Amino acid sequence: MDHTNPNSFRFAPLRRAAYRLSVTRAEQLPADDGAEVAIAGRSNVGKSSTLNMLTERRALARVSRTPGRTQAINVFDLDPGQRLVDLPGYGYAKVPEALRRSWGPLLEQYLRRRGSLRGLILVMDIRHPYGPHDADLIAFAAGCGRPVHVLLNKADKLSRGAAIQEMARLRRIPELHGVAMQLFSAQSGLGIDELHERIASWLTPEAEKETPALAGANSESSKGGEDS
Ligand code: GDP
Repeated sequence: MDHTNPNSFRFAPLRRAAYRLSVTRAEQLPADDGAEVAIAGRSNVGKSSTLNMLTERRALARVSRTPGRTQAINVFDLDPGQRLVDLPGYGYAKVPEALRRSWGPLLEQYLRRRGSLRGLILVMDIRHPYGPHDADLIAFAAGCGRPVHVLLNKADKLSRGAAIQEMARLRRIPELHGVAMQLFSAQSGLGIDELHERIASWLTPEAEKETPALAGANSESSKGGEDS
């Protein structure tokens, strides 16, 4: 792990992310061992930008955007036995209905059966968060016992006060009780430490012990950095 300054936490394996493969059927996925974290979100919320920022690798998210791959599950290897999994963006208007119908089962099968899946990062646009697809995904993940960590992305587009207020409003929604949530900006880097910590804790249980602040990391004030 890198600690370039005392307030920043980076989970170094993310920087070593390497594209492995894209699959459209669950049986094409790599062997279900080790640990993986998946990232999901409606199109245009900033999922690719988040992947770029997390891995510091521009070319990586470009892979996921290659035509034909936006509807696939794209798998990236981190360190041995660790993977980052980019789930198909939902809500693409241009996608043919037949293809749209095929994502549901793929996603459902993945979330229901994948033993190595430790948690789901769900990216939302803070200016219009928690749409029907997000609600479906959260409900489904909860039903499968999958932890969800929501990124309220593009927080740089709102004042800090408005962003905090919006997060507080979302936290009051009963269906979101128990869902971890944080402010984020894939553009400015707001909230990046907290996201690295979450992923580290899911992929390497020891990392959790190294960062006892994680338990309180969802509160706005635990970390410095984004509080000025
Ligand atoms: P994706 O379709 O979810 O992969 O979304 P992209 O990563 O392609 O982002 C969609 C648009 O939103 C692009 O124009 C990005 O530059 C912009 N964007 C993504 N994240 C942020 C953010 O945190 N802040 C701002 N201001 N713009 C963002």
